[in-house]
Amino acid sequence: LFQVNGHNPGSDGQAREYLREDLQEFLDGEVLLYQLDDLTRVNPVTLETVLRCLQARYMADRFYTNAGCTLVALNPFKPIPQLYSPELMREYHAAPQPQKLKPHVFTVGEQTYRNVKGLIEPVNQSIVVSGESGAGKTWTSRCLMKFYAVVAASPASWETHKIAERIEQRILNSNPVMEAFGNACTLRNNNSSRFGKFIQLQLNRAQQMTGAAVQTYLLEKTRVACQASSERNFHIFYQICKGASEDERLQWHLPRGAAFSWLPNPERSLEEDCFEVTREAMLHLGIDTPTQNNIFKVLAGLLHLGNIQFAASEDEAQPCQPMDDAKCSVRTASLLLGLPEDVLLETVQIRTIRAGRQQQVFRKPCPRAECDTRRDCLAKLIYARLFDWLVSVINSSICADTDSWTTFIGLLDVYGFESFPDNSLEQLCINYANEKLQQHFVAHYLRAQQEEYAVEGLEWSFVNYQDNQACLDLIEGSPISICSLINEECRLNRPSSAAQLQTRIETALAGSPCLGHNKLSREPSFIVVHYAGPVRYHTAGLVEKNKDPVPPELTRLLQQSQDHLLMGLFPTNPKEKTQEEPSGQSRNPVLTVVSKFKASLEQLLQVLHSTTPHYIRCIKPNSQGQAQTFVQEEVINTGPKLISHQNFVERYKLLRRLHPHTSSGPHSPYPAKGLPEWCPHSEEATLEPLIQDILHTLPVLTQAAATPGDSAEAMPAPMHCGRTKVFITDSMLELLECGRAQVLEQCARCIQGGWRRHRHREQARQRRAAMLIQAAIRSWLTRKHIQRLHAAATVIKHAWQKWRIRMAYLAAKELDGVEEKHFSQAPCSLSTSPLQTRFLEAIIRLWPLGLVLANTAMGVSSFQRKLVVWACLQLPRGSPSSYSIQTAQQDQAGVTSIRALPQGSIKFHCRKSPLRYADICPEPSPYSVTGFNQILLERHRLIHM
Ligand code: ADP
Repeated sequence: LFQVNGHNPGSDGQAREYLREDLQEFLDGEVLLYQLDDLTRVNPVTLETVLRCLQARYMADRFYTNAGCTLVALNPFKPIPQLYSPELMREYHAAPQPQKLKPHVFTVGEQTYRNVKGLIEPVNQSIVVSGESGAGKTWTSRCLMKFYAVVAASPASWETHKIAERIEQRILNSNPVMEAFGNACTLRNNNSSRFGKFIQLQLNRAQQMTGAAVQTYLLEKTRVACQASSERNFHIFYQICKGASEDERLQWHLPRGAAFSWLPNPERSLEEDCFEVTREAMLHLGIDTPTQNNIFKVLAGLLHLGNIQFAASEDEAQPCQPMDDAKCSVRTASLLLGLPEDVLLETVQIRTIRAGRQQQVFRKPCPRAECDTRRDCLAKLIYARLFDWLVSVINSSICADTDSWTTFIGLLDVYGFESFPDNSLEQLCINYANEKLQQHFVAHYLRAQQEEYAVEGLEWSFVNYQDNQACLDLIEGSPISICSLINEECRLNRPSSAAQLQTRIETALAGSPCLGHNKLSREPSFIVVHYAGPVRYHTAGLVEKNKDPVPPELTRLLQQSQDHLLMGLFPTNPKEKTQEEPSGQSRNPVLTVVSKFKASLEQLLQVLHSTTPHYIRCIKPNSQGQAQTFVQEEVINTGPKLISHQNFVERYKLLRRLHPHTSSGPHSPYPAKGLPEWCPHSEEATLEPLIQDILHTLPVLTQAAATPGDSAEAMPAPMHCGRTKVFITDSMLELLECGRAQVLEQCARCIQGGWRRHRHREQARQRRAAMLIQAAIRSWLTRKHIQRLHAAATVIKHAWQKWRIRMAYLAAKELDGVEEKHFSQAPCSLSTSPLQTRFLEAIIRLWPLGLVLANTAMGVSSFQRKLVVWACLQLPRGSPSSYSIQTAQQDQAGVTSIRALPQGSIKFHCRKSPLRYADICPEPSPYSVTGFNQILLERHRLIHM
């Protein structure tokens, strides 16, 4: 509830109370919403309420709703035969006041018919059927034509009845033919018209339909040779491939299941793929079977042409040859198109240039990509001519003599506004047409709104405003516009890059409020802010597409065709030289796609201006084409907005910051001083000064939006303040929104700047603090580390010392044995003890042993040794021969030598130390090995022995 009005709860103002009651009343009656036949009767008129009403009606199977002067048609996406029965047509036709009946496309049909009958100026009528692709435009046009075929055929006599029937039937038959050749399955719609059409239904003085004329616009011929993924080529190609008889397949070289690169997604079966219906309709239009067969043969030829793939040539001087499996396609294509095989191939492969006074011909083999372009161009050329020819055949079949009709009802079925990820010249033209029609619609809509203006106490001068004029000026304006710049590029015929074109457009049209530039896009492009939204157009290929160059060789090639149809489409008569064949000498300005389109659009608008317009707006309730599904996403953009004073002030009060006289500039974060402040409780009367204040900012806004040459006064001020509402146009709304965005941006910048400064200061402070903390931590850590090292070193030192002492002790203990104790107890008594004497005796006794052992190497005999050992060691009695003295072998463990020194010690040299501790060297040295495997038998030990 509050979203709709944009108010917050708790407001107790009188106006607020009123609105709330109003809305509540509306919501209470929502159950009956589907009964509202006119969207202008929903109360309040907001986007939400309008959509809710449409949704309620859609769910109740009510697909038509009036919206003032417009009829809104929702696509039911399901067949509803009773809604289009001839009985219902007659009911609307016979009704005294058809507008009192339920809204229907027949109401519009009948209204236009009665207007023609009533001869009230302007007598001629036009019905503009608009809407996005798949919304039901083609369907609606078809319905209207059926309606006129029933009601406008007045059988005065049997003969006239037959004629009328014939004409109406022909008009109706033109539909399947045009749809087969001009419609295709796209992502959005299985039966999307790829051209615009205006059908003029011609009526005589008795309001009987005597004829019709069809005018087409901008066929999307590129589709013949290039289809987006998941899309299809024109229906007719699928119809012939699926519906041809066996004989025809043979004639047209279309074996079942044959693959064609220009026939993507052939497996999809659509109801539009009905070949028989097309053939039947063609027959009714006077296209006989042989001619039909000829058409289909040529179309089959195009499919084979599409299969000609070229291999790149290694030598630039040599033409690119078709790939092996494409050679057969060359043959078949040339056969079906009635062209000599070698000439067809050569024309695609080789470019001929005429130069010099004598018009000498130079031949240049094309690179592979250019061969492909030339092949595609050939197909597009044939298809576009064929389509135009069909339209002319239809016209000659349905058109009445100019003097046989006096009035007409025009049916305009235009392609809707298009915006794809990749938009090019086609979309620019389509959206340009939509802008033109929107402008036409708005002018008409405003006329219808006149009454409400009067009620609001406004002067009708407001009707003169041109809503989307700024956008149209950007596209088609004079002297410089997008169209003029693109045309100039074509005329100058100079090489220009896509980036250059973008820069040219941006600099030359920088002042336009409808030109945007997408800074995020890497590809050169420009943005046009259309009434329906911004669209980005790529500049790459734009100039080439605008030139739509057709190499003259291609036309000359087709003039050589032996095919009957192609001979008619490409006559050799030089008088019929067409645009596609510009002569080198011609001084005529180049007729570009854009200039041709602009001319036909202007012609169309002239026709529309001379008629009473009626609008049918088709809406696609969901993008999936599902019945009974309504997605509230479609916004109906219709003319000026009516905004209540409250809402207006609430949204735009911040624009007062732009007020030139206020002391607080736009950068000021504080409200403008000296101005009355708005509060949600304000009553209508108190809002007026605030609104006036906001309106005073308009010159600032318009000046900002104006192009350098414009004065602010020259800009229209399409905004008026009524008694309770503000009337505002789209462009002014855009301007106000721009201003609002500007103020918000400035505020945001101000906040950002403050925040950034604050953040920098904070960051600097944090950096300093962090540095200090880091330094403190570092020094603390260093101290701690050193302390730990110290402690560890001390522990190691102590442990080391202890260990050394222990080792020394253990070694000493081990070496000294039990005597250590004795020695340590009385080391000084050794010299004075009686033991000394015993030591000496032992030394004397053992001395010979030492000598003998010392001299073993010098030849002491084994017996002598035994004897000495026996004597010295006082071994038990017996023969010395019963003992053996062994010297240790080198590799064996044990004693290697014994040395008895005169001083009294005996040293046993061990191969491997028998000691446990003395062998462990605390400070290992490679030079001190021997010290530990030497056992010193001290004197006191010898005494024991
Ligand atoms: P557009 O011409 O706007 O691209 P179409 O007129 O081809 O769209 O409509 C798309 C499809 O929607 C049609 O093929 C048809 O199936 C369906 N459709 C549109 N209007 C109606 C309708 N009033 N009743 C039933 N089906 C409809």
